[in-house]
Formats: sequence, C-alpha cells, structure tokens
Amino acid sequence: MKSLYGVIGSPIAHSMSPLIHNDAFQQKGMDAHYHAFHVEPNELKAAVAGMRALGVNGFNVTIPHKEAIIPLLDSVEDAALKIGAVNTVLNRNGRLIGYNTDGRGFVEALKEVTELKDKQILIIGAGGAARAIFYTLAQEEGVRLDICNRTVSKSVELMEEFSLQGIARSITTEQAAKEIQRYDVVVQTTSVGMFPKINDTPLPFHSIKQHAVFSDIIYNPLETKLLQEAKALGAVTQNGIHMFAYQAALAFKIWTGELPDTDRMKKLVQEHLGGKPC
Ligand code: NAP
Repeated sequence: MKSLYGVIGSPIAHSMSPLIHNDAFQQKGMDAHYHAFHVEPNELKAAVAGMRALGVNGFNVTIPHKEAIIPLLDSVEDAALKIGAVNTVLNRNGRLIGYNTDGRGFVEALKEVTELKDKQILIIGAGGAARAIFYTLAQEEGVRLDICNRTVSKSVELMEEFSLQGIARSITTEQAAKEIQRYDVVVQTTSVGMFPKINDTPLPFHSIKQHAVFSDIIYNPLETKLLQEAKALGAVTQNGIHMFAYQAALAFKIWTGELPDTDRMKKLVQEHLGGKPC
C-alpha cells in the first residue's frame, strides 16, 4: 500500500514541501505520496487525530502549529522540547513522535560553506526560526554567539532559557552593526528583507571581516538586500534555500531511514522560484 506523508499549516497553498518530497520519493523508487493540508488552529486537534486514525506515516508541521502540536503528540525528542517547536512528526506503529529538523537543517547547510569550530557568530533575530538555530549552533564546539533582536528582551530571554550565558551574549542591534567586523559568520533569521519589502535590511554595515560568511534564511527573494550588500563587500553568502532543503532532507531521513539528494532539492526550489543559485 502507498505510504502517505504531508504537511499541515496555514497558509499552506504555496508550500514547496510537496514538490521536493514527492520528487525524492520518486528518485528513491518509493511508493509514497506527500500532500499539503490546510489546517486552521481550531482544527489542529482534529487534524492530528485524523493523521493518527488514517495511519499517515509522517508529516511536517509549519506555521502556526509548531508549538501547539507538542501536547498532542505521544513523545517529543529532547532537542525539539528545548526549542519548544516540532516541525516533523513520525508515526511509529501508531505512536506520534515529534522532532525539530530546522536547527540541524540550518547547521548542516551552514557547514557546507564554513567550519564552525571557534567561530565568532552573530545571530540577528530571536523569533521561532532563531530559537532552533541558536539552540543548535550553541551545541557546536568552540562557537561564540552574539544574538541581537529588535525586541531586546526576547534575545535576553532566549539566552537565559538555554542557559548560554557562558558562550553567548545578547547585544543591541546598534552594537551588532557597530561591531560587525568581528564576526566570522552572520546569520540573519528575521523576516526583514522578505518579499514584498525587499529593500529592507535588519542592520546597516559598511565593512565586514575578511572571508566572512553571511547566511540569510529568507529565500524569497533568493538574494536579500543584506546578502547583496555583504557579497559586494566580499562575503561568502548563502540563502534560505539551503536550510529549507536540509530540514526537509532530515525529515525524509526520519521517515524513511534514507537521505535524499539535497542538491536536487535545492535545484527544484530554485527553479520553482525562478532564480539562479545563491
Ligand atoms: P517569527 O517567529 O515571527 O520571528 C520574526 C523575527 O523577525 C523576530 O526576531 C522579529 O523581531 C523580527 N522582525 C520582524 N519584523 C521586524 C522589523 N520590522 N524590524 C526588525 N526585526 C523584525 O518568524 P520566524 O518563523 O522566525 O521566521 C523568520 C523568517 O525566517 C521568515 O522570513 C521565514 O520565512 C524564514 N524561515 C525560513 C526557513 C527556511 O527553511 N529557510 C525556516 C523558517 C523560517 P521582534 O522579536 O522584535 O518582533
């Protein structure tokens, strides 16, 4: 019998997850289908019960359900519990198990362009995506993390919640902009610069560290204003397609035990968005 997978969220019509997962199943010769389900918050409980009753093998969870789904699952891996969000659910013999592949997906993607050991890293933003990224980056050996956010109290809370006072600092956006030359890696996790406000950047800068890496998790546009400015100053840049592909690939592995071709996933997303690699 065909295996069934999917993603629940709202809005969901423009999700690119069906595109890359269905292609990966086809590439692997697996008899499976992945579908996007529009689920409103007041329907989440029923939707999860439905997934369970229908024997759906696994599913992704996206905005606005990543936190709310936690109490509806049978168990949740430790990292996802600490992050406070689940983006992947595995149905193991009727038990629904929650995972978070966003943080690991981001870090795997980042490691394609830089080593992380002993690197000085700036994270811009303290929203949902930043939580997963901040928590996961902090597990890497020798990293030193600064985090800045428009609402400073949120970055301070993250630091305290993850008990990272030893290896991380919360600083203001103004301080981050002033000291940008100190950072080997700059990670942009806010929605600033996302379509349609493509000329916005979260902080101004005129010079950067030599060989610095700038990673922006936005993929619409493929190259944000921040990445354009960093590239013009000589930075290695990476857009959000890389994180998107890796978080999907890790979910696929949780469900099937096999890792799909992440380069192919990135290419499909790039083609879908009508752009060239960045
Ligand atoms: P979120 O939880 O709503 O967090 C939004 C973040 O952006 C907060 O830090 C917020 O600061 C900041 N922000 C929003 N408007 C701002 C403004 N005008 N000036 C300064 N800061 C502002 O959103 P999220 O789920 O973390 O998503 C953030 C971005 O990541 C989105 O563009 C999303 O598409 C992208 N994303 C990409 C992937 C991927 O796979 N590539 C995965 C997840 C998310 P305050 O705390 O001050 O409000």
